[in-house]
Parts: sequence; C-alpha cells; structure tokens
Amino acid sequence: MNDRVAVVGGGPAGLFSGLLFARAGVPVTVFEKHGDFLRDFRGDTVHPTTLDLFRQLGLLEAVLEIPHSRIDSMRIRIAGEVFAVADLSALPFRERYIAMMPQWDLLKFLADEGRRYPEFELRMSTAVTGATFDGDGRVDGVTLASGERFPARLVIAADGRRSVIRDSAALPLEDLYAPIDVLWFRLEKAGAAGEDLTAVIGRGHFAVLIDRADYFQCAYVVAKGGRTEIDDAGLDAFKADLADLLPELAPSVARIASLDEVKTLSVRLDRLTTWHRPGLLALGDAAHAMSPVGGVGINFAVQDAVVAANLLAGPLALGENPDPLLHRLQADRWRKIVRMQAVQKIAHERLLAPALAGGDDLRAPLPLRVLSRHRRLRRMAGRLLGLGLGHETITSPDAGRRRP
Ligand SMILES: Cc1cc2nc3c(=O)[nH]c(=O)nc-3n(C[C@H](O)[C@H](O)[C@H](O)COP(=O)(O)OP(=O)(O)OC[C@H]3O[C@@H](n4cnc5c(N)ncnc54)[C@H](O)[C@@H]3O)c2cc1C
Repeated sequence: MNDRVAVVGGGPAGLFSGLLFARAGVPVTVFEKHGDFLRDFRGDTVHPTTLDLFRQLGLLEAVLEIPHSRIDSMRIRIAGEVFAVADLSALPFRERYIAMMPQWDLLKFLADEGRRYPEFELRMSTAVTGATFDGDGRVDGVTLASGERFPARLVIAADGRRSVIRDSAALPLEDLYAPIDVLWFRLEKAGAAGEDLTAVIGRGHFAVLIDRADYFQCAYVVAKGGRTEIDDAGLDAFKADLADLLPELAPSVARIASLDEVKTLSVRLDRLTTWHRPGLLALGDAAHAMSPVGGVGINFAVQDAVVAANLLAGPLALGENPDPLLHRLQADRWRKIVRMQAVQKIAHERLLAPALAGGDDLRAPLPLRVLSRHRRLRRMAGRLLGLGLGHETITSPDAGRRRP
C-alpha cells in the first residue's frame, strides 16, 4: 500500500488538512481539479477563530499580509430603520474582527505553506473520479480522470458540497433543505472602507452588503430557484428592485451592465449521517454543506481539518492504522455542526423566507430592538458571529521541526 494520504479537493478543508499532515511528517497528496484557485465569490470570510489557528501555527502576521478588509460589527436595516446587532470588539482573541480576504489568496497561501514541507504534494488540474476498494471493501485509493489509479493508506474527501468521493463510497446524505438561493455581485462604492456588515430588509427583498474597501460585495437573497424568474424578468427589472432596496447605491446599481455579473449560489444545507468508512474520511462541505448565513462555511471546514489532523496525524506518522480513529472526527464535530445548521434553518424559516414573502407588516421584531439597545447583548451576538459555537486548538505534531 502507498503510504500517502490522498486528500481530494484543494479548498480550505483540503489544503489546511494537507498542511497539517505534512507538518506532522505524513506524506500527503492533495488533488485539485481546477488549474488555479481563481473563482470569485467562493466565500471570503476568515473568522477570528481561523485567524487564531494561523497564530497557533506562527503564521498570523504572514496571512494578514494578504490584502483584506475587516468587519467588526453588524447592522440590520429594516424599512429604512437601522439596528446595530453584533459587536465583535470583546472577543477573547487578539484579532477581534472577521478578515475579508479573497479565498483564492488564502488558498494560495495555504498551498505555498504546504509546499515548504517535503511531504506535501499538490496536484492541480487533477480531477478525481472516485474511490477504489480492496477485496474487503476498504477504501484503498482513488482513481483520477486520466485513468490512473492512486493507492493511499487514507483518503480524505474534501471535495466540497458535490463530493464525488462520498457518493462513490455510498456515505449517507441527509438533506435539510434550504428555501433560499443567493445571488452575488459587486456594487461600486465611494469613500474609505467601513468595518461593518449591513443586512438590508425591504418589502419582499433581502440583501447583505459586505464592505470590501473599494466595493461592496452584495449577497441578494432570493427564494429557491428564484434566479430563473430574475433572468426572465430581465436586467432592468432586477436593477429597479435593487435600487428600491438600496436607494443610496442607486448610481452603482445603474452601472450593472449585465446579469452575467450576477453569480448564483444554490444554497444547500445538508450533512452526511456517517462521515467515514474504513480508509475514508469526509470533512468540510463534503461532510456538511452550510448555509451562507453567518458566513461560517470556511471556518467550519478548517476546524474539521484541525480536528482530523489532531486525531490522525500522530498515529499516521507512526505508521499506525487510522481506521479505528476515523469515527472520532464526527463524534467531536457533530454537535457543533448540528447546532449551527439548526440556527441557520431558523434564520431561513423565521427571517429570510418571511422577508422574501413580503407582506405589508414590515417592522423590526421586538428582539431586534432590544438587541440594538444593549451593548452587552450585541457583544454576545458578536461572540456567536465571531466564534461560531466554539473553536479548536491545534495539537497535531509538527514532527519536531521548525517551519522549514
Ligand atoms: C458563492 C459562494 C459564496 C460563499 N460565501 C461564503 C462566505 O461568505 N463565508 C463562508 O465562510 N463560506 C462561504 N461559502 C461556503 C464556503 O466557500 C465553503 O463552506 C468552504 O469553501 C468549504 O470548504 P471545503 O474545502 O470543504 O470545500 P470547497 O471550498 O468547496 O472546496 C472543494 C474543492 O474541491 C475541488 N474538487 C471538487 N471535486 C473535485 C474532484 N472530483 N477532484 C478534485 N478536486 C475536486 C473543488 O474544485 C474545490 O476547490 C460560499 C460558497 C459559495 C459557493
């Protein structure tokens, strides 16, 4: 058997786990089907908990050299009235903000860090088509689109929400259904970078504006499948609705030249009920697709990678069989995932779906008014936003070496 770990997918989960395994002295090959990391709107939020992981690796200063903007508070505007709802300034971390950095820069950073270790190999433009099995049904490698068979002592499925590996290994998926999709696009802005994130709710419309220094990244929430209706109604109707919701940005809205500038994220909320089988472990979106509510997808994917390496890197480095340990990732992470998905489902059903349904009674609910009046409550909300439901500590070995 090849002694390498095969990680399928060079996203946040795959590259972070690849880096941690290589750091522990475990030979690892990461397969990424694309030739580069350049895809817009993949999700750019790097939470304080993720920044703290970089601090633990001694990489915080280096990662913060990537150009980024910072978000340290959140506001909601309902029918023109503005409510401050979350304040991250009291988090128990040095970095008390969400760093907004292009995901491709973050992935490139992780890949470059990984390449410093001789045990790390990244194969770009290499699609994996499925898992391979030995005579006992244990996963013992992967097949590549070229037809090549790549044997591995452990396969990590980090190939995202449409994972082919989990399908080929028949891991059971539970679909929790998300009633929304999100359209992403840029709106030009004037002036300096702000440090907040504003959700804007109008009659039948909901948008989130993320201040990205020289532009706003806009997430426009629509009912599931609503993109088709927007395409049918055409660009002018879309711009009219948007200008109605964001009157202060009407000149920027007018500059949207084509609906091609508007990308659709088909929101999924699901999870595998079993994340593993002998020889295979799923993590990140491949194990649980998160809603964009709270922007926690990257954070949760990276934390899965940390826990997986904490559990497996030491034993793998010693040549031990990882199979008896594989169930422990799910056992460790399950409650946090389930709780966060429950929070996201409540937000879908109680906030977003009613906002999209419209109706005449568009008023801020009482809890929102109370929240905005009390700083302590806003800080508690900031804690939930910044920390999610806890954070992980890196305990996987670094093979007794300094960073090469
Ligand atoms: C439009 C959009 C906006 C988002 N916004 C946010 C946000 O603001 N904040 C946030 O935290 N999260 C956001 N997310 C979610 C976030 O991007 C994911 O939760 C996170 O990237 C999950 O990381 P991952 O490594 O598990 O999976 P992914 O990031 O999906 O990475 C999987 C990787 O595997 C590769 N791959 C897939 N199949 C194969 C194969 N067969 N062979 C080889 N490689 C393969 C893919 O090319 C990809 O690079 C957003 C997602 C989308 C699509």
